[in-house]
Amino acid sequence: MNSIYAILILLILGLNLKSQTPYYFPQANNFNPSIPTPEQFLGYLIGSHHTRHDKVVEYLKELDRLSDKVSTQIIGHTYEHRPQIVATITSAVNHGRLEEIRQANLARANKAGGDEMPLVITLGYNVHGNEPSSTEAAMLTAYYLVANESPETEQWLNGMVILLDPSYNPDGRDRHAHWANMHKGSPLVKDPMDREHNEVWPGGRTNHYWFDLNRDWFLGVHPESKSRLKLFHEWMPYVMTDHHEMGTNATFYFDPGKYSSNNPIVPPYLYDVVYPKFGEYFSRGMNSIKSLYYTKESFDKLYPGYGSSYVNFYGGAGFLFEQASSRGHVQETTTIPLEFGFTIRNQVTASLATLKASLNEKPMLLKCRRDFYAAAISQAKSNPVKAYVFGDPADPTRTTAFVNLLRLHHIEVYELERDMTVNTKSFTKGKAYLVPVEQQNYFMVKSVFEKGITYTDSLFYDASTWSLIHAFDLPYQEIKGTFSKGIQVTQEQTSGVSHFEKSDYGYLINQQDYAVYQAIYRLQEAGIITKTAFKPFKLNLNGELRTFSHGSLFIPVQQQTKSSDEIFSLLQLISKDCKIDILPVNTGYAQEGIDLGSNFLRTLKKIKALMPIGQGISGYEAGEVWHLLDQRIKMPITKVDMNQFSRVDFDEYTTIILVSGIYTIDRPTEDKLKAWVLGGGTLITFKTASEWAIRVGLSREKSVPADTLSSARTNYEVIQNREGAKQIGGSIFEADLDITHPLGFGIPDRKISVYKNNKTFLAPSRNPTGTVARYSSKPLIGGYLHPSNEPKIANSAALLCSYEGTGRVILFADNPNFRGVWYGTNRLFLNALFFGPIIISPIGGITSSEAGE
Ligand SMILES: [Zn+2]
Repeated sequence: MNSIYAILILLILGLNLKSQTPYYFPQANNFNPSIPTPEQFLGYLIGSHHTRHDKVVEYLKELDRLSDKVSTQIIGHTYEHRPQIVATITSAVNHGRLEEIRQANLARANKAGGDEMPLVITLGYNVHGNEPSSTEAAMLTAYYLVANESPETEQWLNGMVILLDPSYNPDGRDRHAHWANMHKGSPLVKDPMDREHNEVWPGGRTNHYWFDLNRDWFLGVHPESKSRLKLFHEWMPYVMTDHHEMGTNATFYFDPGKYSSNNPIVPPYLYDVVYPKFGEYFSRGMNSIKSLYYTKESFDKLYPGYGSSYVNFYGGAGFLFEQASSRGHVQETTTIPLEFGFTIRNQVTASLATLKASLNEKPMLLKCRRDFYAAAISQAKSNPVKAYVFGDPADPTRTTAFVNLLRLHHIEVYELERDMTVNTKSFTKGKAYLVPVEQQNYFMVKSVFEKGITYTDSLFYDASTWSLIHAFDLPYQEIKGTFSKGIQVTQEQTSGVSHFEKSDYGYLINQQDYAVYQAIYRLQEAGIITKTAFKPFKLNLNGELRTFSHGSLFIPVQQQTKSSDEIFSLLQLISKDCKIDILPVNTGYAQEGIDLGSNFLRTLKKIKALMPIGQGISGYEAGEVWHLLDQRIKMPITKVDMNQFSRVDFDEYTTIILVSGIYTIDRPTEDKLKAWVLGGGTLITFKTASEWAIRVGLSREKSVPADTLSSARTNYEVIQNREGAKQIGGSIFEADLDITHPLGFGIPDRKISVYKNNKTFLAPSRNPTGTVARYSSKPLIGGYLHPSNEPKIANSAALLCSYEGTGRVILFADNPNFRGVWYGTNRLFLNALFFGPIIISPIGGITSSEAGE
């Protein structure tokens, strides 16, 4: 019965399956009939359905099977185990000499010659999963390149190697595809209010952990980006496309973008010559299908972490396309309804225009990259800084994570030849690294280390600074004189672990290594009682005097439910898995500071954390918490949808995390939350959640209202620019951190870099130990700051510990876990998580309301 039904359906489909080829390729004919169009392969018209990722993969593999012009490879897998497929499309002859082409393509960046070898370009689609037109366009573009037998297509395939990545974000893409397909009506519903057009939280834009992959090219946090960066550096394409969607009532956008949003360190030939020239091709393409478009007004090429800007820092041209979104299969607009197929056609046209422009303008592209690397060498030579040295000797985990990120960008990194001291800061061979400024990828070195770029504009689409050395908060120095370097780092770095002996007395773990949090979780899971030191101490270990900082862990052997042997074998496993040194100790007597039996060693509580999520709550921030705990700490976190929050028995949890959001909680639940805090709970809040906690009386601290809009009369046209400049798009600030407070444990320096991209301002506490981190009086380290905001930030609180009853509310003015790379401030969050439940006010009775100022 079912199979007869299926055959019937296929028959009906087959009859209706008139070819879409003339619609998508109006100027082309001459297609090889043995190559199936996407609609023939999939059994539905392109644009009538959202194609699942597995079907996209199958189609490209089918092209690979049928044609000697295509080879596919799987470059990696997403968190949800979807394959990242890339189709290499070029002539059969070129397929026979791919390695030769690859080598020649790399070599000619720095020298004359090799111009006759094919150009390498990348077409990249659908990084934002709920901007789905471009993956459909990718299949059509692949079909066109393989099936079209015109002399021009043949020229393209002879002259270019095209790396086609149909979906930069397969997990998000499928989340959206399912949404659109499962709500599709028959007949279609155009009404923008229909559920098909309104995804529920978190939507399909982001990846599995709700990160924006179109920021991750520079940060390399996720497997999707890591595999792509590897492929990028293998091939070094000259051109990369990045296809997006924007609001339903918009038209189509292509580059050139807003001139003042170009990156000032990239040599201007790219922006002045290459972009306008390619723009001519795009406009001709769009004119030919009579589509509307705009250029020059918006979008940003400042930040190196977009798919359309990353290649610009390697002498290539990245192109952004933004198509008005039908978000669903058809949606009403202020003009006629926007159909999914129409949005796909614009993306196909942009793809083909890119191919035409790239081959025609090959000499311009070759010159762009050669000039770029020549400029890199001459600018590097004239830079007064000759090298950067960095490294935290007590934290190999954080140091090596930074080294591995540099290597992902093909930045040359060296070990130290010997210990060195620069400007009174010392760096230890084996625990610090060196990056010379004079190297091929000088502009990337500059982007990673330099904090200040002079901008011509004060309106930012995104961040205005992204200095990674500050994000990692690593001790570093600029070297301006001569230096000698050790051997080059060529392997992925991991921190080594020393073998250790069994002890019947106890074991110590220094708190400064970032891996300590994973170790705490593992210790608690294994049922091992662990203490943490509220004061530092020095102890003799095997004749060597060792220093243990605030927060160092002590595992006594005697006060445990497990035997000495069991503990030793568990600790060996934890040391190996977490890559952290564990030190056996046979005496409790300290040479300096507290002894191991002191009351200043407090027993840690086992953490059980909960985070409300859902509509109104920042998916990015929630995702960053989830990713940090899952991937770095290997610790589960319970995510509760807001509509279930009132049902939660809070007493089951030690810790509740409220990231930014709009919290509409009924009164009984609010009262339940207050009682839980007063009874010993730890509430951690970020940004607007901190303001909310203060507003509803969960904390007695105070926030400072942000500026309200000035009523001074202003021209309609300029108001956006004036008010936009007052936003804090993302800048780096200096704060002074109390490193003796449990929230500051393990951080080596009182001066800490904080990333701020919001207007939550917290007043310093009236409790003397409540202001754990405070912005400096001249706080700006890098990025843009409107003068009206400086007095609000200066000397305000970045991190408050509000002691409430036997519990506490830990209020962050900012998001400490920004984009998964702020290793400096995310330690403050991890301290809040792991040490929060044992933090009490050291002055007992005095509370914030009673303490005088
Ligand atoms: Zn987008």
